[in-house]
Amino acid sequence: MPLRVQKYGGTSVADIHRISRVADRVQKAHEAGDQVVVVLSAMAGVTDKLISLASQAADRPDKRELDVLLATGEQTTAALLAMILKSRGFSARSFLGFQAGIHTDNTPGKARILDIDCKKIKAALEKGNICVVAGFQGADDDGDITTLGRGGSDTSAVAIASSLNADVCEIFTDVDGVYTTDPRICSRAQKISRISYEEMLEMAVLGAKVLQIRSVEFAKKFNVPVHVRSSFNEEEGTMVINESSDMESAVVSGITCDMNEARITLKRVPDQPGISAKVFGPLADAEIMVDMIIQNTRSGGETDLTFTVPKDDFERAREISERVVREIGGEEVLTAMEIAKVSVIGLGMKSHSGVAAVMFKALASENINIRLISTSEIRISCVILEKYAELAVRTLHTAFGLDKKEEAVSD
Ligand code: ADP
Ligand code: ASP
Ligand code: MG
Repeated sequence: MPLRVQKYGGTSVADIHRISRVADRVQKAHEAGDQVVVVLSAMAGVTDKLISLASQAADRPDKRELDVLLATGEQTTAALLAMILKSRGFSARSFLGFQAGIHTDNTPGKARILDIDCKKIKAALEKGNICVVAGFQGADDDGDITTLGRGGSDTSAVAIASSLNADVCEIFTDVDGVYTTDPRICSRAQKISRISYEEMLEMAVLGAKVLQIRSVEFAKKFNVPVHVRSSFNEEEGTMVINESSDMESAVVSGITCDMNEARITLKRVPDQPGISAKVFGPLADAEIMVDMIIQNTRSGGETDLTFTVPKDDFERAREISERVVREIGGEEVLTAMEIAKVSVIGLGMKSHSGVAAVMFKALASENINIRLISTSEIRISCVILEKYAELAVRTLHTAFGLDKKEEAVSD
């Protein structure tokens, strides 16, 4: 019997009416003879509301209790869908993360799944049940509830699909697949019918929030076929799969934009061996992920050190940087929050040169100044001012020939 895991995101379960539409789709798959495990997000906006409630309760809400609170969003939708299915006469059962056997480490707010013991779900499926699992959550060794980071229900779904050896993991969302860039920013974006895990991972890392990064890591590692599609129509979406020889290796297959980073510059620090270690060591100890780094040499044995960090970690990173600048005798710490990182991604870059030149020329044609640059084998990223982000995305989309051909559209 085919087994499918279906994950529905926040907009797809935004109210009871939409949850009923989800029930219709689940019912259809079940009646077609498939075993179905459904993984749900919280209703759209609920996780944000819970975070805001927590910040009214305390300046720095306790992380353990915050996870207990945030997990209730997914608990609500899972129970509601199971109720609707049962009221229609189907055997269904809801599972919280820990009941589904999702075992995580104990990093509140961004826990990693260590393993999944699916025996309860398997037993329920064998008895003919539709299993409805609350996404975004698990439990650590002590049985404490943990959450998996924003967008974490994608990861719950792919991890469950991998541990059940499902035939497919369908990610139902509010767009009908993965596009060449965010279709909300660029109306000329095109749907990609098949994308490799590798490219999808770069896109997720670089800001395309359609799939959470860890979900793609899981899918890649365990070879889970992922189908990203719309919960509002029946169209085929995008298959995220292993790179195959018949897959076209576009030089540039996608453009992303990430507004979630902030920039920190340590001005006039000594240009000596060991200085970078003194700066980045304490940041690493604080588990702050530094992304782009650039060092400008000045005359007189001094240098400016610039790097970016996630906005969530910015305050802590600034405090640490100020302390380090005092210790090593630098001048000051400068910061910028209004920045964006735009990136071009493509497997074909491995064998093509000149992509960076096209990118820089396109940005220059719109007078967009590049502040930082970083590259990997299959991508180039530039940090620019946030106010130019959407213009940059559209300009690059056109420059790399990704615009939808048929109709004349206006942005
Ligand atoms: P869900 O609530 O279903 O998990 P998300 O909001 O997390 O949905 O992800 C879907 C959103 O991702 C889309 O609404 C779209 O704006 C955004 N997005 C960003 N980049 C892309 C892309 N390249 N292709 C498709 N969607 C993208
Ligand atoms: N509800 C969580 C969030 O808003 C998890 C998810 O939707 O995947 O981030
Ligand atoms: Mg999401």
